[in-house]
Amino acid sequence: MSEEQFKNVISHAKEYGFVFPSSEIYDGLAAVYDYGQNGVELKKNIRDYWWKSMVQLHENIVGLDASIFMAPQVWKASGHIDGFSDPMIDNKDSKKRYRADVLVEEYQEKYRVKNQKEIEKASKRFGADFDEAQFVATNPNIVRNKEKIAEIDSKLKAGLESGDLHKVKELIEELGIVCPVSGSKNWTEVRQFNLMYSTQMSATDGESQIYLRPETAQGIFVNYLNVQKSGRMKLPFGIAQTGKAFRNEIVARQFIMRMKEFEQMEMQFFVKPGTEMEWYAYWKEHRLKWHTNLGTDTVKYRYHDHVKLAHYANAAVDIEYDFPFGFKEVEGIHSRTDFDLKQHEKFAGKKLQYYDNEKNESFVPYVVETSIGLDRMFLVLMCNALQEEQLEDGQTRILLKLPPALAPYQCAILPLVKKDGLPELARKIMGDLSLDFNCYYEEKDSIGKRYRRQDAIGTPFCITIDHDSVTNQSVTIRYRDTMEQKRVKIGELEAIITQEVSMKKLLKGLV
Ligand code: ATP
Repeated sequence: MSEEQFKNVISHAKEYGFVFPSSEIYDGLAAVYDYGQNGVELKKNIRDYWWKSMVQLHENIVGLDASIFMAPQVWKASGHIDGFSDPMIDNKDSKKRYRADVLVEEYQEKYRVKNQKEIEKASKRFGADFDEAQFVATNPNIVRNKEKIAEIDSKLKAGLESGDLHKVKELIEELGIVCPVSGSKNWTEVRQFNLMYSTQMSATDGESQIYLRPETAQGIFVNYLNVQKSGRMKLPFGIAQTGKAFRNEIVARQFIMRMKEFEQMEMQFFVKPGTEMEWYAYWKEHRLKWHTNLGTDTVKYRYHDHVKLAHYANAAVDIEYDFPFGFKEVEGIHSRTDFDLKQHEKFAGKKLQYYDNEKNESFVPYVVETSIGLDRMFLVLMCNALQEEQLEDGQTRILLKLPPALAPYQCAILPLVKKDGLPELARKIMGDLSLDFNCYYEEKDSIGKRYRRQDAIGTPFCITIDHDSVTNQSVTIRYRDTMEQKRVKIGELEAIITQEVSMKKLLKGLV
């Protein structure tokens, strides 16, 4: 998928009521988006698929809905106040702020694009005989560009890892990177900026600074003993939660990939120390299965094992998806040891130990977490589903080939004409099917146009009511993906649709 196709995804999402820029009539708010009438349904269905696969299908996982506001000490204990920051640089002429590492990475991207062009040119020239691996290994331009990329990588890493941010500024100067707005090289020093938003909370004894949570996980850690005790949970057990998180990210142009306000779906799995690697392996495999179970081509997914681990982790992997802008993280699976619970013990001065009554001993459990961005998953599905199909009659159709169980509407009810009792019968069918499915009713425009509109929002079934329907109680059912049409009895509709769109069918793929 190219950059061009990515632009199509963004404009399709807006045109068909999936995602709108926030406060658009005021020219929008950078990296903040609203979900429209179809987007909200798709998002809810993804959340449901996640929730059911985690909570309903695992008897030892329960849910939680913690607040966005938390005691400020939580973020001291978790390390977010001291360490949750990005290296930023300002351009003195445009007054615009950038992530220093992203400026460098975008510069490197130019070399990657150059290499891709060389490969495409050569592939056209050599045709079927083209050996891409050999070409990449031997072509002097490509080899030189790759060396340049590696050299920049190591300089950037050296600056970031040593904490000597002046080195990162020197790298930006050495590469001659200019501000995309002012075109100047008039940069400030690079500084670390915390990503958390803060606000004031009033209390009788004055005001205190509190934060909007930058991740949902901490709500689970601070409630772990409440849930364990009130639910009489035995290790291993998990707590799942979905909810908003906020990060003051300074990046643009990646649509809902990186937002300032987004939604996470996280699950913390509490285990006996020493068993964490078994569970890490289990969740690594199980979570990838959750993704590929949606019918996405498996080559579009890959694991990216972390080589350099965060101070609290003893293993970490990202599940990456091949977005139009390359493989990027959709989900992280982290073995977090007992770091978080021990930190909260220390800062809160309370014991957070689990009492094992078989062994008659207490200890702090280890944690394996799975953390996925709901908005990123939404983007995966949109990128994967949007297709332009060439039809036999020379026309094209835009199709959103979403997994049927996740589509905003499961069926559309379309009376052929607005008279002769057809709308009345259609309304009756709608009334019955609405008890099970989200149904779309439409009687305007030609049937062809109405089919196309449903294809574009991903509705798996269209049901057309015509004059014969009134006399013989049969309708035409049209399948989105094949455009096949069948005549069926009205009484059969519920079973036919359920067969294809039920969440049960999707969940069965996981057990
Ligand atoms: P990245 O490296 O892309 O910034 P991260 O490693 O900071 O991500 P985590 O803190 O592990 O991300 O968060 C877990 C998940 O939350 C990510 O895999 C991603 O899907 C999602 N996520 C994180 N930040 C954002 C954001 N700004 N907008 C949308 N989703 C996000």
